[in-house]
Parts: sequence; structure tokens; C-alpha cells
Amino acid sequence: MTLSLYLHYPFCANRCSYCDFYKELHEPALEKAFYRALTIETELALNQLPPGQHEVQTIFIGGGTPSLTNLGLLGEWLHLVRSLIKVSDWLEFSVETNPESVSHEVLAGFKALGVNRPLFGIQSFNQAQLRLLDRIHNPDDSHRALYLARALRFDNYGVDLIFGLPSQTGQMLADDVNQVIDLAPPHISFYQLAVEEGTPLAAQVAAGEIEPVGSDLAAMMFREGCSRFREADYTRYEISSFAMPGCQCRHNLTYWQGGEYLGLGPSAHSFVGDRRFANQANLGEYVSSLEMGQLPRLVDESGEEQRMNEAIMLGLRLTEGITHSSFLRRFGVALDTRLDMKQCEIFAKSDHLVLDDAGLRLTEEGLMMVDEITRRLLP
Ligand code: SF4
Repeated sequence: MTLSLYLHYPFCANRCSYCDFYKELHEPALEKAFYRALTIETELALNQLPPGQHEVQTIFIGGGTPSLTNLGLLGEWLHLVRSLIKVSDWLEFSVETNPESVSHEVLAGFKALGVNRPLFGIQSFNQAQLRLLDRIHNPDDSHRALYLARALRFDNYGVDLIFGLPSQTGQMLADDVNQVIDLAPPHISFYQLAVEEGTPLAAQVAAGEIEPVGSDLAAMMFREGCSRFREADYTRYEISSFAMPGCQCRHNLTYWQGGEYLGLGPSAHSFVGDRRFANQANLGEYVSSLEMGQLPRLVDESGEEQRMNEAIMLGLRLTEGITHSSFLRRFGVALDTRLDMKQCEIFAKSDHLVLDDAGLRLTEEGLMMVDEITRRLLP
């Protein structure tokens, strides 16, 4: 059986205003405590798997800012993983990085540890917009990081770009999109800025200090960006993901297609053996729980109905959609029985979706309103 491994590296050099991921400010002593606890977690979690049945196909280190990591400690953890579980010869190994903390030494160090897919959180090439988000890198850092990725001969790497930034105009986004296309990364993730509850950005919006872009402008930006990436020969395989041939993110496809994944580190989520669980999003509790020999897990009790709805929701974000056969194999019930067929007909007639012998998928137009369509299709 295949398994994807996720590691949440919970440290950053600062706190970006829009970010609601779990993180702490980076301190070497805290990082050492984290890796000590991670070692215990990795041994406990991998030894709980049925022996000899899993092979790790993908590793993804996210965060946080994994490019801040102590490479020696990361190398020891990888050595431990390889001693406890079989790792595929065709491993996809992704690591998120922030441009300001990418150097030749860091990227070459990652490569020596087997990383074959660095990801660069560029977000924008506009200095003023980066400042608005409290990002600490500048456009030169981004260019330098991508130059290093090419110089070190990574065949596969990706960039993240955000649209819908406060005060961003269509022209500003077009400048960002054009720069990304000129740099020709094999993979692009293209997300709309979300104002998440509890973030400094949400407080600034509530106080009227920052005005988010309107929904019409955001939709126009999304349409424009997607069509520019398509013209540049990228294949869109998920609503926000564009890849050159053979460069789709296999790790994320595991999540979207219902595969098994084990998450390690604070706040990481897992789906293993039909059980879902999440680690506590608190480094102190994570460390003390593991020091007492306990996995710091909260079990997700959601039932089969909710899982089927989630599978449809995630599947509709993929351009290939959901096949009848895969849904039947996973849940033992026909996909049609989980859908409001009247709504399906309406959206099929308006060319927003296709429901045929293969399965259900959204058209380009349908993808533009995936949330609305999903809401109306589910019972
Ligand atoms: S660097 Fe990434 S994880 Fe860290 S605060 Fe910024 S957006 Fe969040």
C-alpha cells in the first residue's frame, strides 16, 4: 500500500498578516526540542502501522518555513524514517521554502538529502504588496531563489502566487503572472488571498484599514491568470494548480483522491487505515505529550456520510473530477446516489458540469464557481 508522509515544520522568521497556519517564531533551542519530540512521534507512529505493508511514495515538508531548518537534524530524521519504513525509489520529496531564507547552501543541502521538488512561496513580485502582507522577502530574493533552483538542476520545482491582494489592480496581477511565466517553473499554485478569522489581516479589514478586493475583480483576476497559464502551455489539473507535463504534485493528489497519508508535527492531519486524526496545534503540548510517550492526537469522529461528501467536494476541484468506479470502490455506493440529480441536470445544461459514463467533472466555467456548485449538488 502506498503512503504519503507530511511533516509540519512549525517555525517561521516572522508572522505574515494573513496566515492562519500553526507556527512559532524560530529559535534554535525550540527547534531542537521539536526534533527530539518528532523522533519519538515518528517511531511510535511508524511502528503502529501494519508491518511491511506500506511504501512511502511522497514526502512533503510544509510549515511554517522549512527553509529555516537545521539540515543536520532534518537529515537524522530522514535517516530514522528510512530505517522504519520502505521508501519508494520514485519518491517525490517536496519542501516549502521562503525566498529570503533560500541560499545555495540550503538548497544544495536539501538536494543532498533527497529533496527533488522545492517550492518557493513567492506570492507576488510587487514589493508594496509583499509589505502589506508582512512578508519579509523582496522580488530580488524570489529571482535569486529560482535562479539557484535552476543552477542546482532541480527538474521539478514550484512557485506559489497569490491574487486578490488588497489594492491590487488587474494590471498588477498581470505583471506578476507574466513574471512567473517568464521564469517558467514546472509547477504553479495560484491562490486567492483569504481573509482568515483571527489573523491580523482580518483585524485590519474589520477596522477599515485595509479593503479586500471585490468579488467581481477577484473573479476576473482568477479567470485572467488561469487563461494566461493555459496559453503558456501549463495544464490545469486542480482548481488552483498548474503543471508542465509530468510535474503534477503527487502528494496533493493523495489528499484529493482519498489516499492514505500520515502527518507528523504539531497540527498535522492524517488519514490511515480508514481513521482520521490530527495532532495538537501547540508545540508545548506536542512536546510534553511525546515526552510522556503519548501520541498527541485528536481523533476525527466524522462518519461515512461526511467522508463521502468530502470526497465529492475534493474530487470536483480536480479537472478530471470523480470517477464512478473510484467512488464505488472507496465507499461501496454509487456516486449518483450521493448527488442531487436535478441540480446535476441544471448545471449540465448550462455547461458547468459533465456527468457521463466515466464520472462527474466540472468544466472550466464550472470550476470558477466550484463552491456554489458543490453546495447545490450535495444532499
Ligand atoms: S512564512 Fe508562511 S507559514 Fe510563516 S507566517 Fe508567513 S505565510 Fe505563515
